[in-house]
Amino acid sequence: MNNRSKVFRDNEMVFHGIPLSAGIARGKAFLLKKIDIQQFRKNKRSVDLVSSEIAKLDLAISKSKDQIAHLMSNSRQGAEDQSNQIFKAELCLLDDPEFVVLIKKTIESTALHGEAVLAEEIALLQDKTMECKDELTVKGLITMQDLYYRLLYNMLPSGDGRISSIIKIPAGSILVADRLTPVEVAVMPMGNVSGILIEEKTIYSHASIMLRTLGVPIIINFHGVGPLLDESTDIMIDGYRGYAFLNPSEATIKECYEFENSQKASVKLVAHSIDESTVHTADGLEINILSNASNLADVLLAHSQGITKIGLFRSEMRYLASTVLPSDKQETAYYTGIFGVEGIKSMTVRLLDMGGDKLPVYLQMTEETDPQLGCRGIRFLLSRPDLMKKQISAILTARGAFNVSLLLPFITTVDDLSKARKIIEEVFTEMKISGDFPQIGIMIEVPSVALSIEKFLPKVDFVCLGTNDLIQFIFAVNRDQDELQQYNRFIHPVFLEIVKKVILTCKNNGKPLTICGEMASDPTGSRLLVAMGATKLSVQPDALQRVSHAVSNLNTAALQKILPELFDLESSDKVEQKLSTLGSLPTV
Ligand code: PEP
Ligand code: MG
Repeated sequence: MNNRSKVFRDNEMVFHGIPLSAGIARGKAFLLKKIDIQQFRKNKRSVDLVSSEIAKLDLAISKSKDQIAHLMSNSRQGAEDQSNQIFKAELCLLDDPEFVVLIKKTIESTALHGEAVLAEEIALLQDKTMECKDELTVKGLITMQDLYYRLLYNMLPSGDGRISSIIKIPAGSILVADRLTPVEVAVMPMGNVSGILIEEKTIYSHASIMLRTLGVPIIINFHGVGPLLDESTDIMIDGYRGYAFLNPSEATIKECYEFENSQKASVKLVAHSIDESTVHTADGLEINILSNASNLADVLLAHSQGITKIGLFRSEMRYLASTVLPSDKQETAYYTGIFGVEGIKSMTVRLLDMGGDKLPVYLQMTEETDPQLGCRGIRFLLSRPDLMKKQISAILTARGAFNVSLLLPFITTVDDLSKARKIIEEVFTEMKISGDFPQIGIMIEVPSVALSIEKFLPKVDFVCLGTNDLIQFIFAVNRDQDELQQYNRFIHPVFLEIVKKVILTCKNNGKPLTICGEMASDPTGSRLLVAMGATKLSVQPDALQRVSHAVSNLNTAALQKILPELFDLESSDKVEQKLSTLGSLPTV
């Protein structure tokens, strides 16, 4: 049941989506407007070429139609369903020549840019909605607003002033958004957000990975809720089962809290202790469980579960959360705090993996046609050696006697690696500091590296396999693109075979390998990795219990036996079926 909504018990409405992060939360709705319309109303400008504005509008209309059609087919809802009815109404309006002609005529008569015209319409509708007392008419007006927002959003090349609105989220809010970018997640005042509902359904996007560590219930794949909300709407989220209740009844509230208590009690029963970052499989293999982290809270959360090693510290989050470039002093102080967490013995800090969808506002570069394939990671750092040197210097100043390794993101060629290494050596020499030269490793996340890993190994001290990006590039599937996620599956035989080859090559060359993508944070993924020979898994802090439990129950030899059979299968579904016949393996 996806996004099915129905009214029951007085005013209450229930929606269903995919749970991304467990927990129960209740609060007032904070609807992240798709766009801050006031900026367009304030900065009205005339256009020289009205025809190009009309062409922009036509493009936005066709984009909007595609989006709505996709949302409808994706949610597979019945005719009575509320959100489906909203989408249908939006499509009808877009197909209505009078509706479209009206907007075009306004653009022609005012010679204003299209965004301003749409923003004025939205403001007008908002006023009417406030005044209206009839519930049905209000719903209609809200649908119109939603449609104008959609058109406006689709007219913009990028950027929409949402950051300023996110920063001001009031305490006790349930954030409702169409989607979130990593920058938006990074600047969110977390103490004020009790739970999150998101329309899109990507689990592997950077934003989703970051969201999962925030410790609040989150549900994704949610459509049609936005138009039913205002800031006084009471929402209850059940992140265990994927339900959101608008205006929850007393009975629902009671049931949700009772369910949460029962969940907490059962988690305590299965709580698995990770001893000094180590667990053993059922047949006695020692597996190193490390943690991924993006900030201090993650490091603390990991440590509270027995973790002593951070296998991937995503350093870019500090930079995304800031509105200005941190000073040298601030940067050093930040790392001093992170490295100082008691009980943490070593940390692999990945140098800034910026670019793609991860660019802080103060570093916005020219727009790229396909940012996932653009100036990301090491490419970005090599284009800004000043930033790279500044970061390395802050890390090396802060490390003291702490064991820090440096990890290079998004390496594609040996040449990238050599250039990056040279910069690190320069900084180290210039700093004239005591202590050993840091261990240097690379991310294996681009196929060219995975397929020729033996050429990189002599030049590095260790490697980290990033399954999130590697899957994206092997299957040519954008990890952020909701509707393509059926291609984004780590259990595909082709992917498994490539991973196996990487693990084996590292082993044969005596090079330490950590798996740090989401595959390692999944119970089935982690078991497959161990069966393929991986001995170090760096896991998201919220998945540490699940994974250590899965690994410690694993009969490695039994799974190893069927690996060749899995590699011979033709699809992810077939691998999934085969695994499910083994019974003890959870399905993916
Ligand atoms: C990966 O690509 O698997 C990875 C760990 O890096 P990120 O998710 O930060 O791109
Ligand atoms: Mg990556």
